[in-house]
Amino acid sequence: MTLSINQERLAHYFTTLCEIDSPGKHEATLASYLQDFFDVFPGVTTVVDGSATITGSDTGNLIVTIPGTAPQKTPLFFNCHMDVIAPCLGVKVVRHDNVFTSQGDTVLGSDDKAGIAILMEMTQLLFENQLPHPPLEYLFTTAEEIGLLGAKAFDPTGLQATMGFALDSTGVDNVIIGAPAAVYVHAEILGRAAHAGLNPEEGISAISLAGRVISGLPVGRLDEHSTANIGLISGGTATNIIPSTVRLQGEIRSHSADLMRFHRAFFEKVFSDIIHPVPQATFSLEFPEQYPALALGSDTPLLAITQRAAVSLGRNLDYIVAGGGSDANIFNGKGLTTAILGIGMENVHSSHESISLASIIRTLELTTAISTS
Ligand SMILES: [Zn+2]
Repeated sequence: MTLSINQERLAHYFTTLCEIDSPGKHEATLASYLQDFFDVFPGVTTVVDGSATITGSDTGNLIVTIPGTAPQKTPLFFNCHMDVIAPCLGVKVVRHDNVFTSQGDTVLGSDDKAGIAILMEMTQLLFENQLPHPPLEYLFTTAEEIGLLGAKAFDPTGLQATMGFALDSTGVDNVIIGAPAAVYVHAEILGRAAHAGLNPEEGISAISLAGRVISGLPVGRLDEHSTANIGLISGGTATNIIPSTVRLQGEIRSHSADLMRFHRAFFEKVFSDIIHPVPQATFSLEFPEQYPALALGSDTPLLAITQRAAVSLGRNLDYIVAGGGSDANIFNGKGLTTAILGIGMENVHSSHESISLASIIRTLELTTAISTS
């Protein structure tokens, strides 16, 4: 089947979305634009969930429900985040040779508005061409870039679909089927304050202890499946005061639950081996969860649906394991089988971000094939 994709309409949707300000926790303008857009399709409903009270955003997540015209097909969801990473206010889209960039003073926002534009145009195509499709749900989340807040606060109970796709990665024709779990490292080392010149004998320098701890901690790539980092350090009050307190913050990521346990235990051992022998020095060490792992087995029905679509397009897809965390990790943790599709965005999280119209179209063809084949 050859689709009559309206390229200029798609480009217009994309540009319009990018030029609507939607920093994290301020997605309400975009959400109401999307509600106005989707509400005009017959039978389509839009609902803003109650997550704003949890996330602190000026809107909840937006859920768009499109009734199936081939109800025997498996219901599917598609997810994009509405927020954009800073600097993202007053974006002016520049289109040159069908490649979109910002003017250079902001990000572009193709992360993740290219995905939203794809779903807008796909909906047009489904209706205009009366293509048979399963029940579809679009989950437009808030505050992804600042901690996956909307996804974390999302209640999947009312959702018809139990599997779907996040349109939110670089590259095209790739499917992310694995991403690591991540925990924060929150540590505090307590020594004892004393005047550095008058009575240094009474002080225990938390900074010196932290230095020894840090040099003993494994960081960087720990093994084939795991990484760790200490990214923030703070402590001390004045040059003439032996510092009593140091706070360390970092993270550990691993694709393997066993290795995650191992590395956490090793962190604890390093802290206790160094701090416990020092009289009156203490520490606290916690590992709050950032997000659970994404790990799809090759036999998951979602990948069969994906592969069927690829075959219908005559394409080979790359199935890859990535190193980052996104809404898809949270959805998988909530029991929603979620793969991530590359949408062609490049140099994301920078003012050099770009995307080509060709990449957006290529992903649109894939999502449409997924929804109709
Ligand atoms: Zn993103």
